[in-house]
Amino acid sequence: MLHVTIWNEFRHEKKLEDVRALYPNGMHATIGEYLGKDEELDITLAALDDPDQGLPPEVLNNTDVLIWWGHMVHHEVNDALVAAIRERVYLGKMGLIVLHSGHHSKVFRSVVGSTGNLSWGRNQKEIVWNINPTHPIAAGIPDHFCLESEELYAEPFYVGEPDETVFLSWFEGGFVMRSGLVFKRGAGKIFYFQPGHEECRSFYNEYVQRIIRNAVYYVKPTAPSFDIPN
Ligand code: ZN
Repeated sequence: MLHVTIWNEFRHEKKLEDVRALYPNGMHATIGEYLGKDEELDITLAALDDPDQGLPPEVLNNTDVLIWWGHMVHHEVNDALVAAIRERVYLGKMGLIVLHSGHHSKVFRSVVGSTGNLSWGRNQKEIVWNINPTHPIAAGIPDHFCLESEELYAEPFYVGEPDETVFLSWFEGGFVMRSGLVFKRGAGKIFYFQPGHEECRSFYNEYVQRIIRNAVYYVKPTAPSFDIPN
């Protein structure tokens, strides 16, 4: 059994009617509903406004894979929590999946070690190209799929050179973005995936869902045969 915690800032859904209509119980609940169909996955939902920002030690220390969505209040996330997450990832105790606007979260910047800066613009059609079809995260994903409306995220994406690039996206306006990237840090793995703007339906897309599930299995910790130095 894999313990997956889906952490969501969960503010847009409370404040904006359109977003609430799309994700009435929060984006994390929608992702959790899909992942929960997999009997190997034990799902915990967590939100910034929960006690201990949703990740008290008893939850964090029992999490095998943490999925992170944040956007407008990255600065509210406690630095001590960020450090605890980074340590768990670096020591190979937990995998991390960062979605969409999490590219600017303290967690992503701190774990990957870069600004995560990129360009963005209005919602538009996106084609996600599967440019690494033999990669485990691309299992069951066609050579490309279309998201009718997604927020434009564009290169340059300041993350240095990722360890693996799985998806590359084209946007209607002609922009491109490396949209599915794997980073290896310490003994841990991190997957960044670009779709998932709160005004868009991407978390209902079957391929987006499948990619997140594949990524859970890819970044999950694997027991090392020796002690990893702290
Ligand atoms: Zn967005």
